Amino acid sequence: MRPNALPEGLHPDTLAVRTAIDRSQYGENSEALYLTSSFIQPDAATAARRFAMEEEGYTYSRVGNPTVSSMEQRLAALEGTEAAVATSTGMAAILLLGMGLLKNGDHVVCSQSVFGSTIRLFAGEFSKFGISTSFVSQTDVQEWAAAIRPNTKLLFAETPTNPLTDICDIQALADVAHNAGALLAVDNCFCSPVLQQPKRFGADFIIHSGTKYLDGQGRVMAGAICCDRRYVDELFLPITRTAGMVLSPFNAWVVLKGMETLGIRMQAQSQRALSLATWLEGHPAVRRVYYPGLSSHPQHALAMRQQSASGQGVGAAVLSFEVHGDAPEALRRNAFAAIDAVRVCSITTNLGDTKTTICHPASTSHGRMTEVQRQAAGIGQGLIRIAVGLEHIEDLKTDIARGLDTLK
Ligand SMILES: *Cc1c(COP(=O)(O)O)cnc(C)c1O
Repeated sequence: MRPNALPEGLHPDTLAVRTAIDRSQYGENSEALYLTSSFIQPDAATAARRFAMEEEGYTYSRVGNPTVSSMEQRLAALEGTEAAVATSTGMAAILLLGMGLLKNGDHVVCSQSVFGSTIRLFAGEFSKFGISTSFVSQTDVQEWAAAIRPNTKLLFAETPTNPLTDICDIQALADVAHNAGALLAVDNCFCSPVLQQPKRFGADFIIHSGTKYLDGQGRVMAGAICCDRRYVDELFLPITRTAGMVLSPFNAWVVLKGMETLGIRMQAQSQRALSLATWLEGHPAVRRVYYPGLSSHPQHALAMRQQSASGQGVGAAVLSFEVHGDAPEALRRNAFAAIDAVRVCSITTNLGDTKTTICHPASTSHGRMTEVQRQAAGIGQGLIRIAVGLEHIEDLKTDIARGLDTLK
């Protein structure tokens, strides 16, 4: 097994296919999959040293697995962090972050526009353990700063948000956090490291749901935290090894292979999203389009600056739009009609797939909010979200026009 002897200074596209390959004795060109729960020990004394963590070597896949390690190293290389720790899902990564960093009496400041399960985890589950969370506006840095308390340990953000694609200023939030002696976590699911590297703007922890663009083809669930090695070693590995929210080697292998095409997928899907968003903006049945790549987006300039890891600003591949209607019932009827007319797009809330997905956030992903909460969040009954995949752009426009044209 040749050690990873890659030259320095490689570009992300090269790292995505070449870094962190663990080859077996057979020299296979594709990444090996070590689908095993345990590892045979050469002798009892070696086993004793490995179990005592005095010697490196695999023992049991809850403690460590070479395929999972490869996936962690490749993701860390793309995010530009020293290390990463993989988890069974994206939510398990956020649970691990909280378990590793927070204790009874600590306080968190979190954007009110983060993924719904993230809000429930902080507001519901963590509060049972004496951890309190203040939820603040995604885009108002003053509100974040004003929410800081002496016991604030963590700021948590996600950008762009789902479904309205609001952008927060990662650098400004990192400054607020660090001035208060707290740390900043950024959920980088929507952009992936090929568009946005939160570490460059001062984020301490980068959260991923590998279920989305890292796998990229809607097959497996996975998650990760990317950060400094000392955090992985001191805060997170002791928990994953004991509590067991580890990633399956098979899922790690799928994500490892998915990352090879991440760069070209994100570019191609983002190009289609921009084309679709521009076309929707001109459609008479559409009241408003939310997409960071459009110059009409309120944080367009910030998005182009922040989402430019590939060299130029990119809007990413999720967009939302509102249809016309004069009352909530009419809006909902029109949105449902537009959704039900599609014959190519999948009606599902998942995103990050090569297959374009379409959904009605107010009745699905955000259906558990009250109407008042939804109004405050700007998620109306006329809102439709599209996560753009890899189908031909003309087929997507035709598919979405099928329903919209009946609303004119
Ligand atoms: C899907 C998602 C998650 C949760 O990931 P799972 O893999 O489904 O647990 C977290 N954050 C964002 C932004 C997501 O889209």
